Amino acid sequence: MQTIEQTMNEAAQKAWSKRPLIISGPCSAETEEQVIQTAQRLAATGKVDMLRAGIWKPRTKPGMFEGVGVKGLPWLAQAKKLTGLPITVEVATGKQVHDALNFDVDVLWIGARTTVNPFSVQEVADALRGVDVPVLIKNPINPDLELWSGAVERVTRAGIKQIGLIHRGFSSYGNTEYRNAPMWHLAIEMKRRNPEMLIINDPSHICGRRDILMDVAQKAIDLDFDGLMIESHIDPDNAWSDAKQQVTPEKLAEMLDAIKWRYETADEKEFITALEKLREQINHLDDELIQLLGQRMKIADRIGEYKKNNNVTILQTSRWNQILEKAYAKGDALGLSKEFITKYFDAVHMESINHQNKIMNS
Ligand code: PEP
Ligand code: MN
Repeated sequence: MQTIEQTMNEAAQKAWSKRPLIISGPCSAETEEQVIQTAQRLAATGKVDMLRAGIWKPRTKPGMFEGVGVKGLPWLAQAKKLTGLPITVEVATGKQVHDALNFDVDVLWIGARTTVNPFSVQEVADALRGVDVPVLIKNPINPDLELWSGAVERVTRAGIKQIGLIHRGFSSYGNTEYRNAPMWHLAIEMKRRNPEMLIINDPSHICGRRDILMDVAQKAIDLDFDGLMIESHIDPDNAWSDAKQQVTPEKLAEMLDAIKWRYETADEKEFITALEKLREQINHLDDELIQLLGQRMKIADRIGEYKKNNNVTILQTSRWNQILEKAYAKGDALGLSKEFITKYFDAVHMESINHQNKIMNS
């Protein structure tokens, strides 16, 4: 059997290992000129490591542009030949895997609408058996880490050694600032579970609009992601899919220049000791917070006893509102957001209620 190094060309291998790994290209391949021009303008920036383009587009509703299909693959192959950029496309079926590999696509990615479906992921995994190709797996559209992990496991079991993750946000009901809520904690947990695995962020599908891409990209870098996948187009406003979120190759280069790149470790000893001291302080404070929360629950238990003996309900809404209002004001003065205070108090309150429930029903 051939090794990965033998089958994967050098440029692709180099890109896969580069940090930060920057992948860009149009949401969809539309025409040969569009693919090639985008690739050439991206390559000219010198800041992009891999070219992406959707060939088969899973669209939410029928009648939308569903991708050009197999005929786009030679365009990508030509773009690679002209620029040297390795190429990546989305695959959702066994046939698409075979077609992409026939055109020497360097890296495959599994899209969010595929990760949600174990049948589809398994079909893709089966088509990958015996092939050495790196695979990127996007998070599922719904915030379910087990589905994401399940997809990783299916692809791993098919024998794929080089697997990466793409965090593209999660759909949520109602209007938010984002097209797909980032729910950073889920990506962080996935990273914790797979410490050796490459994880990149896709600000384009999180934001759904170009004016806030930069904030999300910076946040990802601050959180130690390994790279970014950002959609680009030679004429974003007239793109056949995801027009609002694409940027020109030159605009992308500007964004990449503006990002403050961070490194998990710095060589300077001084920096490390300063960091260690600060982390030590954080550890102490966290210990204290846990101690205090324990004490708080003990008091809640006593209140529970009292309520039980006097037949009072656990939940008293007016009292709870008072606590919250006070906390918002105090938090605000200390630079703590209303959102954080709400989440924190909700969690503390639920724990108190659970404690008191136990007591009242004992
Ligand atoms: C895409 O990358 O163009 C795409 C369809 O993304 P997602 O699967 O994240 O929606
Ligand atoms: Mn897209």
